[in-house]
Amino acid sequence: MNEIKILIVDDIKENLLSLELLLENDEMEIITASSGQEALQKTLDHNFFLILMDVQMPGMNGYEAAELLRGNKRTRNIPIIFVTANSRDEENLFQGYEAGAVDYLVKPIAPRVLESKINIFKTLYLQQLELMSKTSELNGIISEMEELHQELEEKNKQLEILSSMDGLTGLYNRRYFDLFLEEEWNRAYRHGHPVSLVMGDIDRFKAFNDRYGHVKGDECLEKVASLFANTFQRCMDKVARYGGEEFIALLPETDITSAEGLAEKLLDMVRDARIPHKDSQHNGIVTISLGVCTAIPSEKMNPLNFLKIVDEALYEAKNGGRNRYSRLEYVAE
Ligand code: GH3
Ligand code: MG
Ligand code: MG
Repeated sequence: MNEIKILIVDDIKENLLSLELLLENDEMEIITASSGQEALQKTLDHNFFLILMDVQMPGMNGYEAAELLRGNKRTRNIPIIFVTANSRDEENLFQGYEAGAVDYLVKPIAPRVLESKINIFKTLYLQQLELMSKTSELNGIISEMEELHQELEEKNKQLEILSSMDGLTGLYNRRYFDLFLEEEWNRAYRHGHPVSLVMGDIDRFKAFNDRYGHVKGDECLEKVASLFANTFQRCMDKVARYGGEEFIALLPETDITSAEGLAEKLLDMVRDARIPHKDSQHNGIVTISLGVCTAIPSEKMNPLNFLKIVDEALYEAKNGGRNRYSRLEYVAE
């Protein structure tokens, strides 16, 4: 594999040749340059794990070339070993390290010294490559996981919306309503405010289904559901399908007078819809019955009893002849 490359720089051809002979093996590609300028050019075309740089060259010398390499982001980190004839010249050595040398070799170069130094840099370079590929692999995994996480969150959100809704009417389902009720009950308790429930049930709906069939029955349910939703539409109101043909509205901050007003309005709206119902007790149209209940929560009261009492009120409306509402107040014993 020739993926790793070394650059050797020397102005004297013979020196380049003898270095090449020394370095030649299958594991690395040797690129040569005979001047500082050419060396800079070569670093643009290749990635080197190491540069062996002659110090004394006409024109741009080794130190100057090294300094230019340090100034460039792409080449800044290529290790440079200077090859010099005057090892005792301390000032020169210092200048070389300032320019970014990592090591020195003194001519004539001892082959075993050269080989061992090169091996060290080769190992370092290969480790660096591996680290880089691991890092980018890791980054890939991380961004893939982030994408999956986002997808999952969206799915969960959709699922939550779906699991909160009744499929036929688009209202909240009973499970969700019970959660709302619990929450609202606690809030009203903290503030000492009233909260109301309006529970409704279609009159003689079994007979409607028997006569007109389930498809018409479903249409009727959808219509009544939309009338419920249109009646209780303050932003904190919650309307749910509570059973087969039973609906319920939770009205925070609503006293008994307002709740009764809304119940009247809803009864009117259902009658005004004039859905034919031959078996109805009331002018051949669909009607509903409503139970209304208001509470100011206190310690001895709870949402379950609240539901029980509104159900009793509904039962009273049915018994009282249907097509009406009945009200009960929930007060602590
Ligand atoms: P009441 O006036 O006392 O409320 O009498 P009712 O016939 O309305 O009450 P009952 O509880 O006897 O019957 C309810 C009917 O509602 C029976 C059932 O077939 C129908 N029903 C419940 N859920 C659905 C539904 O999802 N679609 C349809 N089409 N009908 C439903
Ligand atoms: Mg009914
Ligand atoms: Mg019923």
